[in-house]
Amino acid sequence: MDGNTRGGGHSEALKNYNLGKTLGHGTFGKVMIAEHKLTGQKVAIKILNRRQMEIMEMEEKAKREIKILRLFIDLIHPHIIRVYEVIETPKDIFVVMEYCQNGELLDYIVEKGRLQEDEARRIFQQIISGVEYCHRNMVVHRDLKPENLLLDSKYNVKLVDFGLSNVMHDGHFLKTRCGSLNYAAPELISGNLYAGPEVDVWSCGVILYALLCGRVPFEDDNIPNLFKKIKGGFYILPSYLSDLAMDLIPRILIVDPMKRITIRGIRDHPWFQNRLPRYLAVTPPNTPQQAKMIDEKTLQDVVNLGYDKDHVGGSLCNRLQNEATVAYYLLLDNRFRATSGYLGADYQQPMMVL
Ligand code: ADP
Repeated sequence: MDGNTRGGGHSEALKNYNLGKTLGHGTFGKVMIAEHKLTGQKVAIKILNRRQMEIMEMEEKAKREIKILRLFIDLIHPHIIRVYEVIETPKDIFVVMEYCQNGELLDYIVEKGRLQEDEARRIFQQIISGVEYCHRNMVVHRDLKPENLLLDSKYNVKLVDFGLSNVMHDGHFLKTRCGSLNYAAPELISGNLYAGPEVDVWSCGVILYALLCGRVPFEDDNIPNLFKKIKGGFYILPSYLSDLAMDLIPRILIVDPMKRITIRGIRDHPWFQNRLPRYLAVTPPNTPQQAKMIDEKTLQDVVNLGYDKDHVGGSLCNRLQNEATVAYYLLLDNRFRATSGYLGADYQQPMMVL
């Protein structure tokens, strides 16, 4: 794609962005904060280093990951990280995504200890709605844990890292991801390579427990012992939990995946239904419907930046990725965040259907 990146710099590939500080280091490279020059919007750029993938023998699987990441460009949900563009060079893959100012949910739980039931519920409702949406789009996360749940400026949850987890669901999962074992479903640690939506349900149960109790239900420094606890479904429900929470958690943490509650079941549970915001109670439009909806004001903003209206409208309609559509989505997200907050308004804004 460009010669500059071979030298180690990312200047040509990331010419539309001003790179800032490093936010953290991931499995294949680092994540940096950046500013989109045209719109001034802040983004996070994940740098996946191809060489690193090779070393980890993940090269072939990376293709699959990129496919999933690209799919995420089309997935628009308030609780799934927005991916604005994926830029590929011979050396790296850059994933430009929404910036989450408040970092990982894990740090939040560690800092605050166990959360009040209402706050835990608000976060859990957002997680379930994001997970449900992914399942509807045929993506199973397989590695849900508070490190993969980021918090934006308003402490709203954003699910991240679907791509990597899908790549890592086989043998590598156990070899490379020991940190996630506390959240892994029994069938997954038993080596069952088939991992359906039920594994995400289990992880959501562990996360719910962590939110309400400030610690994970299955814990042991000794891995074989930890496995025994998970496979046996042995954990303690603290007595300070409300009756409804005490009813819900054991329905999720059921060892037999066939008997485990479904996402639908969680949704219908009275603990979950309590204070469920309207925008999470309605079913979001599916992806083709979303692609046809164009926000008139944002479109005009992009035109004001110097792009042709028909070109932008056509690109959005055909789900093409180019400079104009990247600018459109950055501005669109900013508009929703600034108004009633993306949430709530997002399915009700006046949209022009092309
Ligand atoms: P891993 O590969 O280990 O899952 P990531 O590459 O996803 O890790 O992330 C590395 C670090 O960067 C993490 O500490 C995470 O908090 C931070 N990070 C990742 N994505 C974002 C984002 N969109 N906004 C803010 N911080 C992020």
